[in-house]
Amino acid sequence: MIGNLLRTALFHFILAATAGIGAAANAQTLALVGGKVYASPDAAPLDDAVVVTAAGVIAAIGSRSDVQIPSDARVIDCAGKTVVAGFWNSHVHFTQAVWKNTGSAPAAPLQEHMREMLTRWGFTTVWDIGSDGRDTLALRRRVNAGEVAGPDIHSVGSIFPKDGHPAYLPPEIKLPEASAPDEAAQLVRTYIGFGLDGVKLFTGSFKGSGKPVVNMDPAIAKAAVDVAHAAGKPVFAHPQNMAGVEAVIAAGVDIMAHTVPGESVYSPEQLARFKQQGIALVPTLSLFAKLPVAPDIAARLVATTVNQVKVFSDNGGPVLFGTDVGFTTIYDTTLEYELMHRVLSARQILASLTTNPAQYFKAAKKGRVEKGFDADLAVLDGDPVADVRNLAKVAYTIRAGQVIYQKP
Ligand SMILES: [Zn+2]
Repeated sequence: MIGNLLRTALFHFILAATAGIGAAANAQTLALVGGKVYASPDAAPLDDAVVVTAAGVIAAIGSRSDVQIPSDARVIDCAGKTVVAGFWNSHVHFTQAVWKNTGSAPAAPLQEHMREMLTRWGFTTVWDIGSDGRDTLALRRRVNAGEVAGPDIHSVGSIFPKDGHPAYLPPEIKLPEASAPDEAAQLVRTYIGFGLDGVKLFTGSFKGSGKPVVNMDPAIAKAAVDVAHAAGKPVFAHPQNMAGVEAVIAAGVDIMAHTVPGESVYSPEQLARFKQQGIALVPTLSLFAKLPVAPDIAARLVATTVNQVKVFSDNGGPVLFGTDVGFTTIYDTTLEYELMHRVLSARQILASLTTNPAQYFKAAKKGRVEKGFDADLAVLDGDPVADVRNLAKVAYTIRAGQVIYQKP
């Protein structure tokens, strides 16, 4: 069931696990001078500020008169710019052809594609929720070794229901299906043993328009969740329809990786369970806005999914920014911000990019621009609270004190 793909991957995974080096090895001492800083999404902005980073962490933050700029610092002029914590994208995929054999591929094309897809949009941490782990863990190793400028990568292994090969994935790819709880549990043990950081369950799988969705038996999903949780790993789900959402609830899944287009809004009972169980939501609104369907149908899909985000957020649930980039080639994040802004404030959107995921994934030193926090920063060409589209106007992306993107 697990397949040769995974078995042959074992040695690659061991290499990846032992070769990881902190990106702080490449950190510079930086002084970001003269910008406006939002230390957190709910903080008042600090104007004409200085942020100093050293050895991969934030060494100082304050007004220009209060902070000494180290003599060895690389000074980045941030006049007219806004500094916020580095962004998280909690739904990406390293599945495009460029990522094949990342362990041995030349670094330049990898870095170039990383820039187009992620670093130029401010992302310093990503969750890859479905790819060939051999490639993605090799990529992570090279990113962390400083060979490829990129974000902090987390990656998960996928489990599909029996006969649940989605219509949009190439039929020749063999996908790991679980037809019984013990098979699901064994797959999760294998993934964790290989060094993956969590699991993604297709609690609903799209088989093509007009065909019934194949849902995962909640007992199978729960067996996977139990093993993952015992190891302290999160579980994502692709719900596809309301039956898939019900399986999320019944199985104790942590994160819904999408809203559910074509369905109504979540019911009061579902919202109560989301809250009780601490379930998080990744909207992926622009994905649905750009589906190859008639404009009126697309408009309806957007209206329902936007409304799902609204009721989920109003219910107090954590919204985690995510776009499904890598599956979609909509790299520009502007549309996602505009759609989210129909129902969320700019500060709520900033939280979905920073503090919400940091808190949800227990990254205690990420998500805020504070002394002692990781030096993960996005420098924007404008104030995102004044105009959310400024979240996509990135001048610099800094991860662990290293500039991983600089606008040409
Ligand atoms: Zn996806």
